[in-house]
Amino acid sequence: MPRVQSIQMRVLLWGWGVLIVGLAVAFWRYSASLDEETARDFERETLTRLDTVQWLLDRGGPFKEPRDRQDFLHTLANNMGMRITLIQGASVLADSSRAFDDLAKMDDHTGRPEVAAALGGELGKATRHSATLDRDMIYMARKLSTPEGQPETVLRLAAPVNQVRMHMQRMRWALLAAVIPLLLGSGILLYLLSRTITAGIAQFTEAAQAIGEGDYRRRILFYPAAEFQPLAEAINRMAKKIKKNVKVIENQRGELWAMFEGMTEGVMVLDTGGRILHVNPALSAIFPRAQEFIGRAPLEATMSLEIQNLVDTLMAGETTEPVSRQIELKDRHCAEMTVVPFRDHKFRPRVILIFHDTSEQKRVERVLRDFVANASHQLRTPLTSIRGYAETLLDAPPTDEAKRREFLDIIRANAVHMSKVIAGMFALAKSESGGKRPKDLDASVPQALEHALMNSTFAAQEKDITLAVEALPEDLPHVAADPDGLLQIADNLLDNAIKYSPQGSSVRITAHSDGQSVTLRFTDQGPGISEEDQKRVFERFFRADNNDVDGAGSAGLGLAICRHIARNYGGEVWVDSPADKNTASGSTFSVRLPVA
Ligand code: ADP
Repeated sequence: MPRVQSIQMRVLLWGWGVLIVGLAVAFWRYSASLDEETARDFERETLTRLDTVQWLLDRGGPFKEPRDRQDFLHTLANNMGMRITLIQGASVLADSSRAFDDLAKMDDHTGRPEVAAALGGELGKATRHSATLDRDMIYMARKLSTPEGQPETVLRLAAPVNQVRMHMQRMRWALLAAVIPLLLGSGILLYLLSRTITAGIAQFTEAAQAIGEGDYRRRILFYPAAEFQPLAEAINRMAKKIKKNVKVIENQRGELWAMFEGMTEGVMVLDTGGRILHVNPALSAIFPRAQEFIGRAPLEATMSLEIQNLVDTLMAGETTEPVSRQIELKDRHCAEMTVVPFRDHKFRPRVILIFHDTSEQKRVERVLRDFVANASHQLRTPLTSIRGYAETLLDAPPTDEAKRREFLDIIRANAVHMSKVIAGMFALAKSESGGKRPKDLDASVPQALEHALMNSTFAAQEKDITLAVEALPEDLPHVAADPDGLLQIADNLLDNAIKYSPQGSSVRITAHSDGQSVTLRFTDQGPGISEEDQKRVFERFFRADNNDVDGAGSAGLGLAICRHIARNYGGEVWVDSPADKNTASGSTFSVRLPVA
């Protein structure tokens, strides 16, 4: 910043400058007129003296001797303080500054300018160095009236120049003596004036600084001069307005922040460099550690090149409209992302990313779609069968009673199958729509097992199957599952083990914990499951052909339900087959659930 001179200094310099120039002009004008006046005074005085000397010469004369005239003039000159010369023709008759005897040696004075002018009938005037007196002199000469026939006579008076100059000098000094106190006095006055101004400015500066630092209540109530009033009022008005605007901004900021924090949509605000500036809590549900990526690129927080590319495009200012995209995230999560571009106060492009988690919505849609598709597919075959046999019974009923009963049995078996399919589909839909893992899950494994064994007693007895429960560890912890869900898994696995076991075999049931989770195993002596089918038995409606022991009653949904329920609790279900390596037969279905 260039160096700016203080107002105090400027007022002083300008004030003094103007005063000095003014005084100098006045002084110059005055001393010029003083010079003229002095010269005129001198001239007037000399003229009077010329008259006086002429008159005295007339009175004093006629002189008997030339020496008398010289003496007379000498006395006169001494009294008047001037040099008096009387010139006649080419000779000097008398001269007050020379001895009488020297007069004859004096030059011809007719050539002197003042004498020449006087001889011409004018008043002769000249200023020059006098060789006789060796100093600068002012001469004035006038022609005297002389009798006819006599050479013309000129009377000349001379005074030293110094005398006049000294007079003028004295006048100048007197003037200067008056100017110095004037300058000093004006200096003090100017200083006091400028101090008033600077004190006023300092007060305004202080108030403006206080307002700038947030003291919006600050007002200027006193100011040093009336000229400051508009400025004081303007600053006061400005402070009032700023206070009002700041209040509005703070309220809006509070509202926006509450909205930002409370939104169910995840929001990511980027700065002008495309780095993450703010994230709201909802974003953590979509990108778990988003908070840790403040100041980094969106790519690092989202691990999505698609998002980063979109952000880059919008940051380049190529489009001003919001852009929405469906994005796939990890673990079957998906979200609808809207990138909103905007311009900041310096017109630089910036963007805000809004994420709406659509996973749940998509999942429900998928469940519903699958449910409808599966239901129609699974119910079509038994329904066609029921319809066919019912129509046969109505239109052409067989005469044979046994045949009629067989048809009715088929209809009933299909109806039973349909109700099983429907019940299974509802159970599956229920387990899928359970969605997130509920809180406060706690289930006792021995209790669930006891319940499941009771439910299977009849089926086991029918096939003479032994249900062997190995002694459960006493400190077996509870699992983080809903008791109904756990029972549903145990029921299904035990039901399958009995269903696919040969007559008179046994099903072994074990449970153990590693501290983190509890694993339940159901081992049967059935035919086992081929390696290829092992991967597919947990798919809905999958049924291995060779295991079709109870085709009419099986829906192929039991294991799919078990897997869904177990995964909802953070657990897993799997199969190991053969269960017995030696005989290469049997299957072990296991379920592992986390400890509560
Ligand atoms: P469902 O038993 O109703 O057919 P599941 O989903 O329970 O349906 O089982 C799917 C398929 O897995 C069955 O059809 C069967 O082929 C096979 N499976 C299930 N449990 C066993 C088991 N213990 N031993 C042999 N195969 C089994």
